[in-house]
Amino acid sequence: RSRALLDAQATVESSARTYPRSAPIAIARGDGAYVEDADGNRFLDFLSGAGVLALGHNHPALVAAARAQLEVESHALDFPTPAKHEFTRRLLGFLPPAMQGRTKIQFCSPTGADAVDAAVKLCKTATGRDEVIAFQGAFHGSTQSTIALSGLRAPKEHLRNLNPGVSFFPFSYCLRCPLGLEPATCSTNCGQYLTKVLTDPNGGVRRPAAAIIELVQGEGGVIPARAEFVRELRETTSRLNIPLIVDEVQSGAGRTGTWFAFEQYGIVPDVVVASKAIGGGHPAAVILYDARLDTWAPGAHTGTFRGNQVAFAAGSALMEVIERDGILHHVRRVGSFLRANLDALQARHPSLLAEVRGLGLILGVEFRSVGDVSASEVADRVRAAALKRGLLFEPAGRDGSVARFLPPLNVTFDEAREALAIFGAAVAEVAE
Ligand code: PMP
Repeated sequence: RSRALLDAQATVESSARTYPRSAPIAIARGDGAYVEDADGNRFLDFLSGAGVLALGHNHPALVAAARAQLEVESHALDFPTPAKHEFTRRLLGFLPPAMQGRTKIQFCSPTGADAVDAAVKLCKTATGRDEVIAFQGAFHGSTQSTIALSGLRAPKEHLRNLNPGVSFFPFSYCLRCPLGLEPATCSTNCGQYLTKVLTDPNGGVRRPAAAIIELVQGEGGVIPARAEFVRELRETTSRLNIPLIVDEVQSGAGRTGTWFAFEQYGIVPDVVVASKAIGGGHPAAVILYDARLDTWAPGAHTGTFRGNQVAFAAGSALMEVIERDGILHHVRRVGSFLRANLDALQARHPSLLAEVRGLGLILGVEFRSVGDVSASEVADRVRAAALKRGLLFEPAGRDGSVARFLPPLNVTFDEAREALAIFGAAVAEVAE
C-alpha cells in the first residue's frame, strides 16, 4: 500500500519533493513518538514533522484544543480574538524579564520564511539601511529573499542574482573551522573577524540594517554556536546599533531545553523569529521584537493566513502542557542522556563518526568519509539502515553528512533507548 501511494504521488508531484526520497514511506497515522505507514509498519519518529510536532503526534490536550476551536472559529485574519489573545499572552509570558513589557508581536503568514522576511523588512524600515549580515551555513527559508540569506549552496543552485545586500560571515563551526584554526587556541577569531570588518578604520564603519543568526544551525548540520562567538556578535551589534535577529524557527518552543535558545547564551536579541512548533502542530509564525523598532506603517506586512485560530488554540495548549509537565527540564535530561550515549557510540566508531553535537533535543551526528565513500553517502547508508529497523530521522549539514535527531520533547527514556539501539545497530552495519 505504501508503494502504491508513493508511485501514485511520484507521477504527479513535483520532482522537487524531498522527504519521500530519503525515507520512502507513506504515512497513514501518528501516535505519540511513532508514525505508522500505510502497511502498518511503525517507526520511531525522530523527525517530528521537521520539528513541528513538539509533543509528538496527536497529543490529547492539543487535539482537544484544536477540535474545540474548530467549532468556534478557524480563521479571523488579524482581528483580535480570544484565542489569539490567550496565545499572545502565553507566548510573551515565556520571554525573559529583560524583554517583558517592551516586546511587540507581528503575526505572519504561517511559515518560517515569511517571518524571516518580516524580520528583515522591519529592520530595514526601522534603520533606513539596506545591507544584511548572515552566516555561512545558515538556512532561513525557501523563498527567494530567504534563500538569499542562506549560507548553504544547495538552495541556490540554478538560481542567479539572489544576493542583493547580503554579506556572509564565518560561523563558529569548529570541526571545519572556516578560518582554518584550532578551537583550543583560536580565541574565537570568527567572532572577532566580524567586529574587525564592521569597525575597520580603513573601510569606514559599515552599518547594516540587521544581522541574522541561527544560534543552533539546524539545516546546516546541528551546530550550536560557540558562546564567545555569540557574546562578541551581540556586543558588536549593540555597540554599532545593528539590530540582531535570532532565527528560532527550529531551535525555539523548548527544543533546546529553554523556551528559546538565546536564553542559554545570556543575550537579549532585538528580533526573535518563531514558527514550526509554536502553533501546537498547526501553521503559525510570528516575530517578537523590541518596541523601539516598531516604526512600520499599517499594512507593512500583510498575509491572508495570519489568523489561524486553530493554531492559536493548539499553541496555547502546547505552552500550557510544557509548563504543567515540566517539559523543558525533561528536554535537558533526556537530551543529556541521548548525548552521552551518542558520544559513547562515537568512541566505538571513531573512523565513521566525526562529531556529536547538539543542545537539548536537537542533536546531530556528523559522519566521516571512508575510503572512496563520501561522508554524505555514509550518512545515507546509516539512515537507510535505521529506517529498515524502524527509526525515522532527517539528514542535515553542508553536504548532507549529518544525522539530525528532532525527537518529540516528551520522548520517554525508553523511546530514547530504542532509538539509540537502532541507530547503533545501523552504524555497526555500515561500519562492517
Ligand atoms: N529558519 C530556520 C532556522 C529553519 O529551520 C526553517 C525551516 N527548516 C526556516 C527558517 C523556514 O521555515 P519554513 O519552511 O516554515 O518556511
